[in-house]
Amino acid sequence: MTKLHVLGFPRVGAKRELKFAQERYWRNEFSEQDLLKLAKFLREKNWQHQAENQADFVTVGDFTFYDHILDLQVATGAIPARFGFDSQNLTLNQYFQLARGNQQQFAIEMTKWFDTNYHYLVPEFTQDTKFKANPSHYVNQVREAKALGLTPKPVLVGPLTFLWLGKEKGAAFDRFSLLDRLLPVYQEILTALAAEGVEWIQIDEPALALDLPQQWLDAFAPVYAQLSQVNSKILLATYFGSVAAHADWLKTLSVDGLHLDLVRAPEQLAAFEDYQKVLSAGVIDGRNIWRADLNAQLAYLAPLKAKFGERLWIASSCSLLHCPFDLAVETQLKEQNPDLYSWLAFTLQKVEELAVLKQALNQGKEAVENILAENQAALQARANSQVIHKAEVAERLANLPADADKRKSPFNVRIAKQNAWLNLPLLPTTTIGSFPQTLQIRHARANFRKGEISFADYENAMKKEIELVVRKQEELDLDVLVHGEPERNDMVEYFGELLDGFAFTKFGWVQSYGSRCVKPPIIFGDVSRPQPMTVRWSQYAQSLTKRVMKGMLTGPVTILQWSFVRNDIPRATVCKQIGVALSDEVLDLEKAGIKVIQIDEPAIREGLPLKRADWDEYLQWTSEAFRLSYMGVADDTQIHTHMCYSEFNDILPAIAGLDADVITIETSRSDMDLLDAFVKFNYPNDIGPGVYDIHSPRVPTAAEIEHLLRKALNVIPKERLWVNPDCGLKTRGWSETVEQLKVMVDVTKKLRAEL
Ligand code: GLN
Ligand code: ZN
Repeated sequence: MTKLHVLGFPRVGAKRELKFAQERYWRNEFSEQDLLKLAKFLREKNWQHQAENQADFVTVGDFTFYDHILDLQVATGAIPARFGFDSQNLTLNQYFQLARGNQQQFAIEMTKWFDTNYHYLVPEFTQDTKFKANPSHYVNQVREAKALGLTPKPVLVGPLTFLWLGKEKGAAFDRFSLLDRLLPVYQEILTALAAEGVEWIQIDEPALALDLPQQWLDAFAPVYAQLSQVNSKILLATYFGSVAAHADWLKTLSVDGLHLDLVRAPEQLAAFEDYQKVLSAGVIDGRNIWRADLNAQLAYLAPLKAKFGERLWIASSCSLLHCPFDLAVETQLKEQNPDLYSWLAFTLQKVEELAVLKQALNQGKEAVENILAENQAALQARANSQVIHKAEVAERLANLPADADKRKSPFNVRIAKQNAWLNLPLLPTTTIGSFPQTLQIRHARANFRKGEISFADYENAMKKEIELVVRKQEELDLDVLVHGEPERNDMVEYFGELLDGFAFTKFGWVQSYGSRCVKPPIIFGDVSRPQPMTVRWSQYAQSLTKRVMKGMLTGPVTILQWSFVRNDIPRATVCKQIGVALSDEVLDLEKAGIKVIQIDEPAIREGLPLKRADWDEYLQWTSEAFRLSYMGVADDTQIHTHMCYSEFNDILPAIAGLDADVITIETSRSDMDLLDAFVKFNYPNDIGPGVYDIHSPRVPTAAEIEHLLRKALNVIPKERLWVNPDCGLKTRGWSETVEQLKVMVDVTKKLRAEL
C-alpha cells in the first residue's frame, strides 16, 4: 500500500487565530493558559484533517509559537547566551523575548527561509556554543497526537541544515567545527522520540538544494550513519530543488527513506529510480495554490508504484506552510470568480488531493473515477479559459521590436537632456516614495472598503494627504518630490487590483514571520492594464507644486515575486507581461508631464535562484522585464529604480544592465560598504545611497549623515550622487520623519556649498 504524509502544516489557523491570540498575549490581554489551549486546538485540527484524509502519519513538531528554527535552537540548547536564559527551563515569555527582543537585548535576527517569503530566526553560533538536548517540544507533540489515537511522525530540521543556516558571532571560527558537538545532542533528541515509540522521524535537510561546500556534503554520510543508530526509522527530506547531483551518495546514505521535491525538480526522479528504500514522492505543490492535475500525477506515479511497491509514499513537495489554509472559506471569490475558484487548492484541499491519489494508487482509478473526471474538467476549463488567455497580450509580447527593452540613447546622452530641464543642484535630495501611513489614512481606506464613506470622500481624504505631503516636502526644501503613496495599501496589492489577470482572496494568508502574515495576490491570467493606475494621483500632486514630482510604480519582478503565480506558462513570460503592462502606465505618466518615474524593484535580489548555475537565466529575463516596463520613454524622461538592502557584489553587472538613470539603495546600515560593489564594477549611472535607516524612529545626527555622505562622495563622482533615505517612510510617524529629513537636507546643503 502506498503511504501518504505531508511534510508540515501551516500553524496560524484558517483565520489567523494564532496570530490574534499571540498578539493579545503580548499585550497581556490573553493568558498563557488560553494561548496553550488554542495552540493545542489548532494542532488537533491539523492532525484531524490529515487523519481524515488517509494520512498514514500525522506530522508533529511542525507547530510552533514563532518559528521552527527557533524551536530547534531551544531543543539543542543553542539559544544566544546574551539573553542569559536557560534553554532547559525556558518560559513561553522568554521564548517570545528571543524572537522579539527585550529591554536589554535585540531580537534574534531573521532572514528568508530559502527562496520563500517565510523568515526564520538565524541561530547565533559562537566558538563556544554549548549544546544541550531538550526534546520536550517534539516529545510533547508526539504524546499529544498519540493521546488522540493518531500515529505521529515528528519532523525536525537536520543538523547540517541547522548549522548551515546559522551565523558565526564573536571571535572568528567556522561553524562547521560545531558539528561534532551538535551530533550527540541530535542523537539524544532522536532517542527521546524513539523512546516514545515513533516509527518514523522526518529529518529535513533542505540545504541539499543549495550549492553546499564539499566539506559539508562529505559530512552527510558519517552524520547519518550515527543518527540512524536510533530505534526509529529516518526519512531524509529534501525540497526546493534537485538533489540529483548527490544521487550516488544519497542512495547509499544510511537512512530509511528519502523525500524528493518532484514539483520543483521533477527531472531528478530519473537519478533515483533504482533507490532501494522508501521513496517519498513530493508531487503536490507546497509552494503554490493551483489544483494538481491528478490524472497526470497518476500517470507519473504508476510506474513508480510498479517499481517501488510498498516503498512508495506520496507527499506534499515541501511543508504546506507556504500555502494558505482553506479555500472553502473564500466564499466571495467563489461567487465572483467561480472558474478561478475551481482551479485552486489550498492546504486542506491539497491533503484531499493526496488522498485521491492514494486511493487511486491502492485501489485503482475506478475508486475515484468521479473525482478524477471533475478534476480533469476543471483543468480543461482552465486551459481553454478566455479569461486567462488573451490573444492581444500574447501577440503584443511576441511582436515587440527587437530593441523594445533598450533606451533610445546611451546614459550620457540621456542624462544631459534630463539635467537640462531638471535643473537640479548637485547632490539632489529626494525620498523613496511613501510618507507616513497614518491611522487616519488606514481608517479612511477601511471605511471606504466597508462602504461607510463614499468614493468622493475617500478621494478627498487622499488628496488632502497628498497636499500635506507636498507642503511638508516644500518646507523641507527637498528637490524631487513624491506624492507619498497614501492611496496604496501595499505596493503590490495596489497594482494587482488595477491590472487585469490578478485576483485576491480574503483569508489567503501565509506566515511571513512570527505572527505576521502576508496575503499574496493571485496572478491567474494574462496581464494587461485596462486603465491608468497612478496618473491622476501623480498629476494632482504635480499640480500643487512647481517642483518636480516623481511618479511611483512597483516593478514587474517585485509584483511577480510577491504574488502566487500561474503555473501554466513560464514565470519569465508572466514577468514580461507585467513589464509591458507597466510600460503603458509609464508612457501615460510621461504624457501627463510626470517625467521622473521610479520603478521599485526591492525583490530582484531575493528572487535569485538557490543554485548559482541558475542565476544567469533568471537575471536575463528579470532585467528584460524591468527594461520593458519603461519601453518607449523619451531620453529626457528620467527613470529611477529603488532596491532595499542588497548585497550587489555578485550581480552588479545585471543591476547596471537595468539601465535606470538613477538607482536608490539601502546602504546606511552597512556604513556605505554596499557601495563598494558599485565602485568596483564601475557602475555607470546615477546613485542615491540611503543616508539614514528608516526602520527606526531615531533621528540621525548631522555628523552621522555627513560621515556617510562624505564616504559616498569619496567613491562616487559628485555629479552622479543623490541624497535620500534608505527606503520608504510609510512605517514612520510624522514627527520623526520631518526631523530626520531636516537633518538630511541640512547636511546636504552644507556639503553642496563645499563642492
Ligand atoms: N516606493 C516604496 C515606498 O516608498 C518602496 C518600498 C520598498 O522598497 N519596499 O514605500
Ligand atoms: Zn526599499
